[in-house]
Amino acid sequence: MHPAPESGLVPRIVTLGTAGGPRWWASQEGRHRHGIATAVVVGDAYYLVDVGLGAGRQLEKAGLSFNGMRAVFVTHLHSDHTVDLASLLLMGLYERDLATLDPISIIGPGDRGALPPVSPRAGVAPQPVFPENPTPGIRGMVHSLVQAYATDVNDRVLDALRPSPFDCFTATDIAIPEGIGYHPNENPTPAGMAPFEVYRDELVTVTAILVEHPPIAPAFAFRFDTAAGSVTISGDTTATDNLVTLARDTDLLLHEAIDFDWVESRYGGSPTEADRASIDHHRRSHTSPEQAVELAERAGAARLALHHLVPGHTTTQRWYELASDFSGEFFIPEDLATIPFARTTADADTAALKVGALR
Ligand SMILES: [Zn+2]
Ligand SMILES: [Zn+2]
Repeated sequence: MHPAPESGLVPRIVTLGTAGGPRWWASQEGRHRHGIATAVVVGDAYYLVDVGLGAGRQLEKAGLSFNGMRAVFVTHLHSDHTVDLASLLLMGLYERDLATLDPISIIGPGDRGALPPVSPRAGVAPQPVFPENPTPGIRGMVHSLVQAYATDVNDRVLDALRPSPFDCFTATDIAIPEGIGYHPNENPTPAGMAPFEVYRDELVTVTAILVEHPPIAPAFAFRFDTAAGSVTISGDTTATDNLVTLARDTDLLLHEAIDFDWVESRYGGSPTEADRASIDHHRRSHTSPEQAVELAERAGAARLALHHLVPGHTTTQRWYELASDFSGEFFIPEDLATIPFARTTADADTAALKVGALR
């Protein structure tokens, strides 16, 4: 059972955190961006996409009750997208009316199935951690997180008769369609693949496609289609045609962006082999603001917002300078910004009022 949706409200996203990368990032002008996390809000219900640093606290600041959460979608298993999953599992359950509400589905990548290749820049091959189980998927991750907190959980379950995280959440690995030639190392982003459904309820249909964020695999982008409009969230990726396929004629594209000038200044001075490996990683795994604009144009997206901003301390003004002109509406949202994604232009005007960061 779910709470009844409030049908009068336009569907919208709320940016809970807009910074990317496994860093705290120094604050800029007394403010800082939280880790990547986005709420897709439809009436009184909402869906969480990625669980970056501070996601739980930001949900509370956004006024999004835990009783309204329907499902959690994880684009890929990098720590900047999952680091607050433990707090969601261990604290979220006490915020929810478990007597009347269904468990929350956590939907994300399955086990990678193979370790990534060692960088050709390595002098001596590094040793992986936990070689017996080196690449768990979302189900394995949730299991291990609860296991790590078993002392706490059992204390509360046995003595205080409280629920456990398994009463509040179920984790599901996304099954990648057969026959598309996917392989985590050889072909992580099969060209020409079709989007496939990963979730459906009476409010939304969620489809996914594989994007290009090597060496992590699988890495997904998600699209939410509602009766009133659609939003597509890129996840972490370099510029890829698969994203254009998924985002075709979407009402709002949320795309990741990186400042490659910062990458060069951070790692390029007198680079060690490790620095060069970092530069390599960023170049083949992320997207510049200019590339994001080009992808949004090719997809025919009505609105484009950049998030998962790396570095997290670059000023908003600088991001606007890095992007080329977009023919639709363009946003660099702050944290806790609201962007409606309904189809009508009247609703688009509401977006301009609420996001407060229009070009
Ligand atoms: Zn990331
Ligand atoms: Zn990533």
